[in-house]
Amino acid sequence: MSKILVVGAGGVGSVTVRKAAQFPEIFSEIWLASRTKSRCDAIAADLAAEGKTIQTAELDADDVGATVRLLEKVRPKVLLNLALPYQDLTLMDACLEAGVHYIDTANYEPRDVAKFEYKWQWAYRDRFEKAGLTAVLGCGFDPGVTNAFCAHAAKHWFDTIRHVDILDANAGDHGRPFATNFNPEINIREITQRGRFWEKGEWRETDPLSLHLAHEFPDAQVGTREIYLLFHEELESLALNLPGLERIRFWMTFSQNYLTHLRVLQNVGMTSIEPVMYQGNPVIPIEFLKALLPDPASLGPDTKGMTCIGCLITGSKNGRESTRFIFNVCDHEACYRELKSQAISYTAGVPPVVGAKQVLSGAWQVPGVWNIEELDPDPFLSDLGAFGLPWEERDAVPLEV
Ligand code: NDP
Repeated sequence: MSKILVVGAGGVGSVTVRKAAQFPEIFSEIWLASRTKSRCDAIAADLAAEGKTIQTAELDADDVGATVRLLEKVRPKVLLNLALPYQDLTLMDACLEAGVHYIDTANYEPRDVAKFEYKWQWAYRDRFEKAGLTAVLGCGFDPGVTNAFCAHAAKHWFDTIRHVDILDANAGDHGRPFATNFNPEINIREITQRGRFWEKGEWRETDPLSLHLAHEFPDAQVGTREIYLLFHEELESLALNLPGLERIRFWMTFSQNYLTHLRVLQNVGMTSIEPVMYQGNPVIPIEFLKALLPDPASLGPDTKGMTCIGCLITGSKNGRESTRFIFNVCDHEACYRELKSQAISYTAGVPPVVGAKQVLSGAWQVPGVWNIEELDPDPFLSDLGAFGLPWEERDAVPLEV
């Protein structure tokens, strides 16, 4: 029986809180704090209608002092950071000061430069270790479950892993001309950067979304989809933590319609993170664009179709090479029926709950700062299905590009 504090009442944080509330025997008390308290209260009201109680609070997570005061009042065992990557370091600072374990789903980002690097958070290793606290980084689906899938393959399938291709397919349709499935600012920053993958000890770059191919996914409703190579943050830690790895890449599906809108927005400068002066005021185009686009949390009722996210892994065992695919398939409509969310927020919001269980139970209570593949994948993956994200593994054909 343990208390948790979730920070961030957006699309993903809402899933995390609603899922945790299904397990009162694990999470005895749940607090939800966010910048806009009314969003926390709306989630609390939904849960109250189901006979479940959570506590809410207003919090500016950029303010370490305010966060420490809230942590000292609530005294949770774990803080789950589902705010934005900009808040990672201030929340880690507050956890150190208040003696609370930390979990997030996205690496720290400075506001003025899109980097997707772990270096700022890895610099906290000594401090967490000395404080006897655990920080689990990137505990969503990708990063998160994908890292655990790789750790599972390294532990149970192969002596050496040669190639990893992480595949993220969203075959859902929300019926809007253009919308992102999670925070638009973070999502567009991620997609519009140069493509990058790791091969034979070095990073190789591609023009944004220039490398693509058609790939057949195992779920018939996902079918054959065009997948595009892009950099994704788990590549950085996995390239370091999987010994003997020769290549790791990340691929995501996009529709032609999505790419056409994105190209136009990019061409006119709307995806830029550089401030422009407008009528005497600095405006950051991508932040303004975020205000125009649909709130990802509002897409839930209309989104239909499936997602399929997994790792295609080639390695060898006792000198014999093989390729296997380990993956989850999720149904947007089923997610909405259960937790009022489309599958992207669902797949991102459930794993931090499963991660919090591991920290609370002690399975993942190791002082220091960890990426998921550095922790034992077995208890996490064996709980994942019971929390709503069942996974499968099967023999597969490697990607030839
Ligand atoms: P949203 O924009 O929907 O929600 C973010 C929430 O954080 C909002 O409620 C926002 O408040 C709140 N917030 C922002 N700044 C602060 C602050 N300074 N203090 C307190 N609260 C704040 O984003 P998503 O839910 O889509 O994404 C949440 C996180 O999940 C992101 O970091 C994203 O990168 C990550 N993610 C991870 C995935 C994975 O698989 N690993 C996949 C998808 C997302 P307000 O309501 O006032 O705007």
